[in-house]
Amino acid sequence: MTAGLAGEQLLAVWEQGRGVDALTRALLVWSAADSLPVEDLAAAPLGVRDLALLEVRRQTFGAVADCYVACPRCGDGLEFALDVRDLVPGGTAVADDVAAGSAVHELWVEDWDVRFRLPGSRDLRVASQADHDLRAAVLLEAAVVSVERAGIRCAVQDLPSPVVEALDAELARLDPAADLTLELRCAACSHAWPSRFDVGAFLWREIEVNARRLLQEVDALARTYGWSERDILSLPATRRRSYLDLAGWS
Ligand SMILES: [Zn+2]
Repeated sequence: MTAGLAGEQLLAVWEQGRGVDALTRALLVWSAADSLPVEDLAAAPLGVRDLALLEVRRQTFGAVADCYVACPRCGDGLEFALDVRDLVPGGTAVADDVAAGSAVHELWVEDWDVRFRLPGSRDLRVASQADHDLRAAVLLEAAVVSVERAGIRCAVQDLPSPVVEALDAELARLDPAADLTLELRCAACSHAWPSRFDVGAFLWREIEVNARRLLQEVDALARTYGWSERDILSLPATRRRSYLDLAGWS
């Protein structure tokens, strides 16, 4: 069960996440919110991870996020409110073995038989270390458990394009949240484009902003009332703000 990040926990995640890359950071945030070890989450499919991060976002900052995107054609700013629940129609229930990334799926295309797992953060890390042009192929290779053609074992590289395309489509169908895309349209120039929503990066920016604000609040209340950091962080956010108002801090 995902919980929101608040107080000391939010600050701890922020401190741990500052010095690491985006992949590790996303797992750290998820790990803190769900009280699970990072290594247990590294194999989880990318969409399962992003669903978990959306839930962390909802529990921590609410369901509605204020977004800003610049139009790639005219540069005009597009501001909109995004309800994170709308990103994942159909709910978030996933079988345990699928969520853990251990489930093996099978795809038949003509006489090709491909067995595969859904790629997770660990696979993405391996792929991210490859040359840019090769990343998709490395990710696919990491996901594929075995390939047979008419009962004879083959390599991933033997797969013809139509089978690779069918496999990509099957990966997207089985883990739809792995690619959260917003269909945007610019009010100024009518340009329409798909924009990938990177939950991990979005949530991290919010954690950074809130962690800095939290430190300022601790600083202000400690100066005014002489309370300890621990006492201040254990106050619910609304109570903290009430004291800040009383102290004339805004
Ligand atoms: Zn535009």
